[in-house]
Amino acid sequence: MHRDRLDELKNRIGLLDYLSRYDWQPCRRSSGGQVAGLCPLHTETRPSFWIHTRKNLFYCHGCGRGGDLIRLVQLYHHLTFPEAIAHLRRHTTTSLLDDAIAFYRAQLHRPEAIAYLDQRGLHDPATLATLGIGYAPGACLAAHLLDLGYAPDQLRQAGLINPEGRDTLYRRMVFPHGATLYGRSIDPLCRAPHRFLHTGKGGLFGWPWHPSAPQVILVEGFFDVAALWQAGFVHATCGGGTHLNSTQFQQLITGKRTVRIALDADAAGQQAALSLSTRLHQAGQQARRILLPQSHDPASYFAAGASADDFRTLIEQALP
Ligand SMILES: [Zn+2]
Repeated sequence: MHRDRLDELKNRIGLLDYLSRYDWQPCRRSSGGQVAGLCPLHTETRPSFWIHTRKNLFYCHGCGRGGDLIRLVQLYHHLTFPEAIAHLRRHTTTSLLDDAIAFYRAQLHRPEAIAYLDQRGLHDPATLATLGIGYAPGACLAAHLLDLGYAPDQLRQAGLINPEGRDTLYRRMVFPHGATLYGRSIDPLCRAPHRFLHTGKGGLFGWPWHPSAPQVILVEGFFDVAALWQAGFVHATCGGGTHLNSTQFQQLITGKRTVRIALDADAAGQQAALSLSTRLHQAGQQARRILLPQSHDPASYFAAGASADDFRTLIEQALP
C-alpha cells in the first residue's frame, strides 16, 4: 500500500474513537490532549495506558507497548500488519455506512418522506428506529460525509455515490442491511424501484435478530417486514424479492424452525411460495404458506386497515 494511503488510513480514525467502539473508556484526561485508562492489551487494575489524541499514538507504562493505530489493531486483535490494514479498511467502511445511515435517519422529517411512509401505513417511531429506516433526499449526502472527513474516493468505493457523483439512493427510503443499504424509490413511476448498494443483496434482512427463532415469517420486501414489525410480528424477515439467494436459503435451513411464507398474492408470488415450501420441506424444515387476499402483500394488507388479529387468522389458515 502506498505510504500516503497508509497515513490517510491511520489518521482518519482516532485511537480513542476506535477503542470506544470496543467499549474502552478513559478515566483521566490531561490538558495536553492525553487520556489515560486501563490497558486494553494486558490485565491491570490501575490505568497505565495513555493515548496522545493529537499525535494519535498510544503507550502503556505497564506492558511497555506503544505505537500507532495499526500497531494497536495488530496487538489488540492478534493480526499481522496486512491483516490489520484490511481490518481497518472494513472498520472505515462500517463507520462510513453508519454515518450515512445517521444522515438518512435525520431526513425523515422531509414532507415527501412523511407522505410516502403515510401512504405505506408506516407510522410507529419505534419500528422506524429499530429497523434504522431513513430517507435519501439526494444531493446532500456527499457534502455531509466530506465534512465529516471522508474522501470522495471512499464514498464511491462504498457505492454511496454513483459515477456521476450523485447519491446512489437518491429519493429512496433507506433500510440498513448488513454491509449494504437497500433503497426503495418513493417515485411511483421509477423503473427500478428496488436498489442495493453495489455490494449486493446479502443475507436475509434482520437475520441477526433471529438466527435461532423457532418461527419466522418470510416476506418479499423490506416494507412488508416493517409493516409486520409495526403490527407486533417481529420475527419477520425478507430476501428482497420472491427468490432467495443461496446465503439466504442456508440461513433459513440452519437450525430447526417453522417458516411461514407470506409472499405476494399474485401468481409469481404464489408460484415462488410453493416451490420454496417444497425446498424447505426437502431440507427438513416445517413450512406453511400464508394466503393473503387477492392483490395484496403484507404491507398493503396492513395499510388497507387489516389488524394483527386478521393476520393471525391468516397464519392459522396457512397451508402446508
Ligand atoms: Zn499494557
